[in-house]
Amino acid sequence: MICRSVDVYYGEDQAIFNVSLDIGRNEVVSMIGPSGCGKSTFLRCLNRMNDTIEICRVTGEIALDGENIYGRNIDVVPLRAQVGMVFQKPNPFPKTIYENVAYGPRIHGLAQTRKETDELVETSLIKAGLWDEVKDRLDQPGTGLSGGQQQRLCIARTIAVSPEVILMDEPCSALDPIATAKIEDLIDELREQYSIAIVTHSMQQAARVSQRTAYFHLGYLVEVGPTTEIFTKPRHKLTEDYITGRFG
Ligand code: ADP
Repeated sequence: MICRSVDVYYGEDQAIFNVSLDIGRNEVVSMIGPSGCGKSTFLRCLNRMNDTIEICRVTGEIALDGENIYGRNIDVVPLRAQVGMVFQKPNPFPKTIYENVAYGPRIHGLAQTRKETDELVETSLIKAGLWDEVKDRLDQPGTGLSGGQQQRLCIARTIAVSPEVILMDEPCSALDPIATAKIEDLIDELREQYSIAIVTHSMQQAARVSQRTAYFHLGYLVEVGPTTEIFTKPRHKLTEDYITGRFG
């Protein structure tokens, strides 16, 4: 996924300034920076989630597989399957565990028969590291699971529609440390198959899960580079101040 010179406005206010950043295959890119610096706004550009905010306007170029996702012929429904999103608060549908995963593939025409759907539900739950915990209670409500399980269910739901890119907006901020560790391990496994962009307020998490880190400040992308370099020898003073805890 390639982003060039992206600007984002909320009405008259500009929230993102000239950001160019790529999300490559098999990598996790983390986005860090002080609250309000535009991380979520930028992330939401990548699957046009900002379209749902009336006053929000995005300019610049964002392309997936060489195609501008803001192009006139783009249908946002399949786009949001291709570029899936996991939110801060786990948000399973008020349906069974099975239906949470089966719904997407059905509406996107990825599974026709019951057998195909069963298989897709199983493989998605396996990939999300949840199968063993739920295989005997697929007919129970997704909302009855623990927070960490619900988040993995949301990840299974995202995976079920064969995305290329998975966006995660502070996916662990509502979870305890054990559930967080499981999601972080999962992110590392998912990297083998998907491109992942994650917004996190936790520098430790960025350091643990991502290969590249992007530091945002007041709507600008200050720098992006290999995670180890950003945390050990940042090029910019703003980044250094943030990672050393002087700011943020
Ligand atoms: P972060 O994720 O880094 O905390 P955000 O992307 O949420 O930052 O916010 C960036 C800027 O955009 C902030 O100034 C915020 O007030 C503004 N903003 C975010 N969402 C909206 C919205 N729905 N309407 C108007 N302004 C918004």
